[in-house]
Amino acid sequence: MYNKASLKAEEFISHEEITATLAYAEENKENFALIDEILAKAELCKGLSHREASVLLACEEPTRVARMYTMAEELKKKFYGNRIVMFAPLYLSNYCINGCVYCPYHMKNKHIARKKLTQEEIVREVTALQDMGHKRLALEAGEDPVNNPIEYILECIDTIYSIKHKNGAIRRVNVNIAATTVENYRKLKDAGIGTYILFQETYHKESYEKLHPTGPKHDYAYHTEAMDRAMEGGIDDVGLGVLFGLELYKYEFAGLLMHAEHLEAVHGVGPHTISVPRIKRADDIDPTVFDNGISDDIFAKLCALIRISVPYTGMIISTRESKEVREKVIRLGVSQISGASRTSVGGYCEPEPEEENSEQFDVSDKRTLDEVVRWLMEFGYIPSFCTACYREGRTGDRFMSLCKSGQIQNCCHPNALMTLKEYLMDYASEETKRIGEALIQAELNNIPKEKVREVCEDHLKKIEEGIRDFRF
Ligand code: SF4
Ligand code: SF4
Repeated sequence: MYNKASLKAEEFISHEEITATLAYAEENKENFALIDEILAKAELCKGLSHREASVLLACEEPTRVARMYTMAEELKKKFYGNRIVMFAPLYLSNYCINGCVYCPYHMKNKHIARKKLTQEEIVREVTALQDMGHKRLALEAGEDPVNNPIEYILECIDTIYSIKHKNGAIRRVNVNIAATTVENYRKLKDAGIGTYILFQETYHKESYEKLHPTGPKHDYAYHTEAMDRAMEGGIDDVGLGVLFGLELYKYEFAGLLMHAEHLEAVHGVGPHTISVPRIKRADDIDPTVFDNGISDDIFAKLCALIRISVPYTGMIISTRESKEVREKVIRLGVSQISGASRTSVGGYCEPEPEEENSEQFDVSDKRTLDEVVRWLMEFGYIPSFCTACYREGRTGDRFMSLCKSGQIQNCCHPNALMTLKEYLMDYASEETKRIGEALIQAELNNIPKEKVREVCEDHLKKIEEGIRDFRF
């Protein structure tokens, strides 16, 4: 029985509800009166239910699909302006006892190089990341209670926050580790993490069990209920995601929105972010064996519909996607991107030798951070290294209410300009600096409140004098 407020995975992600939703969407995909009604509702920026959004996903009528894209672009401008927050993944360890069939870190892969960073190696990796200009990391580690126990992850977080190199600092550490206990989530919260990220991979229970044949991750309910335990452990900001390509995308889309509705119903706050990875080639993984791969067009439609269905949730896209795809979907609502990522354990400080490949997946966008920053600016965006909210205690429902009232913009915009200024002063090439300085001057005029603009201008001057870390 479907119940979004239930704490049981099979009730808040009810298979029957998803199949009924898909049937309803199929029946109504040419019901233009209903579709126009849903589009009108979406225009109010209050979000859509999984049923409403699924009808839009099924609709193929060109003018209405075009309206979905336009609306996503408008919504993105309204809530996120032209800012894009930057981050980088940091792989701590690829030891893993699970058997996920789409990931080269699965336990049966005996030829991939297994690595786990020591604290000294973390210092070197993080120093290299700071030297690029990164301020926000997403930690990644396989599940292995012997090699990667929670104590190891906590020690790594402590080390990362303690590294101050030149003007650099990692100011927000998000964590993507396996589903765990409330007690461990509490420890992560106490260690000062930002968002806890866990991809569902697929919401389809039967497929999930086949795709995760062995290891603790096989337990669908334990995995699906992880965000509830994380929130019980005090983590306010959680990040959802599915791995598109494993199951039918329409199924995943409905499941993803149902998960968001569930978090809102139970905890009063939806997901902080949604990631949209697509399955990619990797060591012993051939993505073509998964026959649910989606085209770039479907991918763009999914991004647009996530944007209009959950307007207040950040959307993340990684370097799994090419520059071309990123250009297309950033406009449609993506709010965070990674730059200059290495998806191997220890790849930042020096490139891995060919024979020691420990990559989780092939990176499609291989540009440097400076190139990504410049590209974003040339393309009309403000790259932001802001981490202010979590450091000011603006998390969970406090963050969401600021978001919903639109007030968060008063922080995001000046913070983007100040953190970009820091980047330009400390890390940018001459060309990037030139473009960035002009952008900051132009964007200062877009700060509506005079007082905020004055304070921001004053901080920008102080950044030139060498002072760092201002924030609203
Ligand atoms: S997806 Fe995660 S849990 Fe699964 S094999 Fe890869 S690292 Fe391990
Ligand atoms: S002010 Fe908050 S919401 Fe805005 S970019 Fe910074 S951290 Fe994100």
